[in-house]
Amino acid sequence: MNPAEIISRLEPSSVGLDLTPKGFVRLTAQDVAYALGASKIPEGARDLLRVKYSLQYNYRSSVSSHLYIRLSDVNDFRDWMARRSHRPGLIMDMCKMAVSEYCRANICETCKGTGSKLEIDGKLQSCPGCGGNRIRPIDRKKLIREYLEISPSTFYYCWDDLYRDALGILSFWESVALSAVHHRLA
Ligand SMILES: [Zn+2]
Repeated sequence: MNPAEIISRLEPSSVGLDLTPKGFVRLTAQDVAYALGASKIPEGARDLLRVKYSLQYNYRSSVSSHLYIRLSDVNDFRDWMARRSHRPGLIMDMCKMAVSEYCRANICETCKGTGSKLEIDGKLQSCPGCGGNRIRPIDRKKLIREYLEISPSTFYYCWDDLYRDALGILSFWESVALSAVHHRLA
């Protein structure tokens, strides 16, 4: 089984129990905490798993700070800060936004990820919350306004490249950390 799948089952709200195959051995949050603690992985990656899979939201600011540092290793922030739409704290806020977007449980809450809705007459209809896709679409424009206080058009024109780098780092961290945990728990 894919390690992300194993760990996601720790979070009962993200995946309906009906999706759990029979005979699955349930891991406890302690198992994952142990595996994370015992594995040699970057601190940002470890805290990312804590937030995304163990729902330890108090680690969110730690992930954002580590992301900011890692992002500054691969980008010269001076170039970005010279942009007209920059304001003090914008790049840090962008890191927070990336963590929030990356870690959100995206299973549709209306249908709990089944993609369908049972009508009163017993017929199955496509879920109105997600249109049957089982996953909620990202409302990135809302995130941009909320976290960055700039218009979405400014974001896509000026900041999208840096934001993609930030998401790329989180994705890399997740795969590194998941394989380390999987190795520990296997
Ligand atoms: Zn749905």
